Amino acid sequence: MTVPLTRRGLIKQLILAAGSAAALAAARSRAAEPIHLDVKDPKAMALGYVEKATEVDAKKFPSYEQGSSCENCALLQGTAGAPYRPCNLFPGKLVSAAGWCSGWAPEI
Ligand code: SF4
Repeated sequence: MTVPLTRRGLIKQLILAAGSAAALAAARSRAAEPIHLDVKDPKAMALGYVEKATEVDAKKFPSYEQGSSCENCALLQGTAGAPYRPCNLFPGKLVSAAGWCSGWAPEI
């Protein structure tokens, strides 16, 4: 048995379809966002990456300069002010803007 389609029914169906499409687009957008770099990632560990520059083990990484962080590193990409941003050393992942690793290079 089929129910005859009324104008009101058609509008409801269109609204539901539009809502589903928007939800799907939002989910795809979230899924496409790169993941945050894990401090336990082997490459991150090798370079002494930390999420907060204040946590750098300066004895282990004597190249650390007080005040240096991803935020003022030449290799940081992306939008200024964002808490996590792409880094040229860790393609496909986001690093903490407040972080640091031994690949730090001063901005010119
Ligand atoms: Fe941060 Fe620079 Fe190291 Fe990338 S290279 S993780 S931006 S300090």
